[in-house]
Amino acid sequence: MAAPSKPVSVVTGGAGFLGSHLTDRLLAEGHKVIAIDNLITGNLANIEHLAGNEDYRFVKHNVSDFIFLPEEKLDYVFHFASPASPIDYLELPIPTLKVGALGTHNTLGLAKAKGAAFLLASTSECYGDPLVHPQTEDYWGNVNPIGPRGVYDEAKRFAEAMTMAYHRYHGMDTKIVRIFNTYGPRMRLRDGRVVPAFIGEALTGQPITVFGDGSQTRSFCYVSDLIDGIFRLSQSDFHEPVNIGNPREMTIKQFAEEIQRIIGPDSEIVYKPLPVDDPKVRQPDITRARKVLGWEPKVEFEEGIMKTIEYFRGCVERGMLGERVEVTK
Ligand code: UDP
Repeated sequence: MAAPSKPVSVVTGGAGFLGSHLTDRLLAEGHKVIAIDNLITGNLANIEHLAGNEDYRFVKHNVSDFIFLPEEKLDYVFHFASPASPIDYLELPIPTLKVGALGTHNTLGLAKAKGAAFLLASTSECYGDPLVHPQTEDYWGNVNPIGPRGVYDEAKRFAEAMTMAYHRYHGMDTKIVRIFNTYGPRMRLRDGRVVPAFIGEALTGQPITVFGDGSQTRSFCYVSDLIDGIFRLSQSDFHEPVNIGNPREMTIKQFAEEIQRIIGPDSEIVYKPLPVDDPKVRQPDITRARKVLGWEPKVEFEEGIMKTIEYFRGCVERGMLGERVEVTK
């Protein structure tokens, strides 16, 4: 008897931080993976270890444009393509809006045409600067639609609405994960997010730049935990949004002091103005993920941050500073 054929998954944003880790997990679970990325913020270095893997194919394409794949049938479409750091989406406002809106429409259309289940990478930014703390999935959020972060927040909120419309109207099997701050190897050193920023500054002997007074909070999840939650969600039959993140909350000042203690006791902490609409608090309520997926994070902050520092140390040594390619639209 022929061996059962492997499930085929599409991962958009497949050369990005999360997309590449998700790809590795899917391959380990016995899937074939087709990764699509336009490499605006993704990086081929994140997928170079997959060269020659016969279960893997890379397609360089912008999913905001129509997606053609020759396969008649696909099993899963994971839509992870998007600029995801505040600096990136401030510098790429229109591509960010387009990939959340048109890219979500195209990937839902692809999933529908090929009979695939669909999973949307959404975000805690849907909650904006939250007035409910910690954030539960039934909180509708406090988002400024016309502020500089609105291009990301509203695109993802639109993406969630579009996903639920395909679920309700077309009866499609869809999932939505709301991803909270995640860190780990393969983030771009210069993507502007606080984890690579502080580690990069400390490793290169520059001052650690805290925005505002550092009293704003975030809760950091190590990437392997996040990917495990997402994989479990993909295998579930739950269609409402699910928060995945680590509830261990700290102030940004505390985080800067941790990095200073571990990497550079001599490095100075300096303060710069707080970006517009920067959320004051953020912590996932993961009751739903615990109940529906039997999931909770396992990696301690100390362990995850040491692995991440080692990765960035290697990047600094090899001169891989994580510049983004220039785009014109
Ligand atoms: N932040 C900072 N210094 C930096 C980068 C970020 O103090 O060099 C702060 C930022 O203002 C925010 C928090 O760290 O309060 C997390 O920022 P990040 O860009 O990682 O993502 P966000 O959680 O805001 O989406």
